Amino acid sequence: MPTTKNCVYCGSNANSTGEHIVPDAIAGALTIEQQSGLVVCATCNNRTLSVLDTELCKHSYLGLVAAQELSTAYYQAWDVDQSDGNLLIEGEANWSRNQLKTFIVYPQIIFDEHGPEFRGDDEQAKAFGLQNFSEILVTAVKRALREHQGGQKRKLHFRRVSSEILNRGYRFPPRIFTNRTISQIAEKEVGSKKPSFTIRYISQNDKDTILRQLETLEVPKPDEMGNYKCETQLGLHFPLVNARFDLSLSMRAMVKLGVNLLAAFCDRTPVNCTTFGFATGFVLGDITCSLRILQFNGFVHAESLKCIASGDQSHSFRLVHEGDLWRIYSSFFGGRICTAVTIPGPNLEEWSTMDIIAPLGSKQWRLTTSTETKLLPFRVEWGNLKQIAPSVDLHNSDTKLTIE
Ligand SMILES: [Zn+2]
Repeated sequence: MPTTKNCVYCGSNANSTGEHIVPDAIAGALTIEQQSGLVVCATCNNRTLSVLDTELCKHSYLGLVAAQELSTAYYQAWDVDQSDGNLLIEGEANWSRNQLKTFIVYPQIIFDEHGPEFRGDDEQAKAFGLQNFSEILVTAVKRALREHQGGQKRKLHFRRVSSEILNRGYRFPPRIFTNRTISQIAEKEVGSKKPSFTIRYISQNDKDTILRQLETLEVPKPDEMGNYKCETQLGLHFPLVNARFDLSLSMRAMVKLGVNLLAAFCDRTPVNCTTFGFATGFVLGDITCSLRILQFNGFVHAESLKCIASGDQSHSFRLVHEGDLWRIYSSFFGGRICTAVTIPGPNLEEWSTMDIIAPLGSKQWRLTTSTETKLLPFRVEWGNLKQIAPSVDLHNSDTKLTIE
C-alpha cells in the first residue's frame, strides 16, 4: 500500500508536484521529492509558491543577477529614446557577465499623442521588409484583441507600470508588444499556437485609450510610414532598469527556500507544518511580514557570505542549527548576491552545520556536514544594490521597494 503523503506547507494529502528546492527560474534542477521523498501539494506549489518565486527570481535584485547570468529578460528594462523626449522602449537587455552588450527592441506599437508608432529591431525589420513588418504586427495584434474580446484567456496580458518613472523625466505612452521576433510572429500566426501580446500602461485612462485605439488600428500605407522607427541602438548605452519588487513576497520566497532545503536535506528531523509551523505559515501568508522580520532577514551584503561562495556556475547554501533556530545562508551565482534567514524549528540530525553546493541546472549537489556550529555574521540590506550585488554594474537603475 502506498503511504499517504502530506504537503510540507499545508499538511493536506498531496501527490507529487515536483517543487524545486531552488526555483527552476534560477536553474535549480533538483526537487524536494527527488532528494527526500517529501512532497508539496499542487495548490501550494502552483498558486502561492510560484507567485513567491516570480517575485524573488524575476522581479527582485536576484532577478537582475539571474537575467545577467542566465541570459533571460529582466521584466522592467527599457531603452531610452532621447530624440523622442526620453520615450521608454520595450526590449530585452542582454548582458555578457555584468556588462550590457546589446538591447534588442521588441516588435511594438506605441500609442503616442500623434498616433500609433511602430518600433522594432532594425536588422530584423529590414530583413523582413518594413511594410510587411507593420502588416504582420497589426494583423497579429488585432487577432489577439479579437480572441481576448471573445473571452479567450492569456491572449492579452495587462501590465501596469508605476507612474514614478514619469517623475524622472521619461515618457511612457501605452504600448503593445511581444518578446518574439517579427519572423517568429509571422511563423506562429499561421500555426495553431498564435502569439500573445503584452499591454503596458500607467493609468486606467491609458489602458482604455489603447484598447479603443486597437479597435481601429490599421496597417499603415506605404506613404504613411512617417511614424515608423526601427532602431537597434538608441540614445543611451544603458537602458533604464527599474527594479520594483514586493518586500514581503520576496521575504516569504527566501523563507520558502530555507524550508525547502531543510525538507530536502534533513534525514531525521520531521519538516512539516507542525514542527516548522511558524515558517510554513509565514510562507503561505498566514503570518504577516513584520518590520522586525525584515530587519533580521533578507538580502545581505554580498561580502558577508563570501566564505561560502563556490564557483560562479553554482549556488551554495549553509544550514546551521543553534538553540531552537535554523540559520539558512544562501549564496547565488557564485556569491554575486546573497540572502540569510532564521527559522525556528527542531534539529534531530547528527550534524549542526551542512554546506551545500548546487551546480546550476544539475541534480548532483555536493554536501558537507559538521558537528560544529558554523554561524556567519551578516548585515541585512534591502535598499543599497551596490552592497547587495556589487557586481551588477548599472548606470541607469532605479529601485523601488513596495509592500503589499
Ligand atoms: Zn499544500
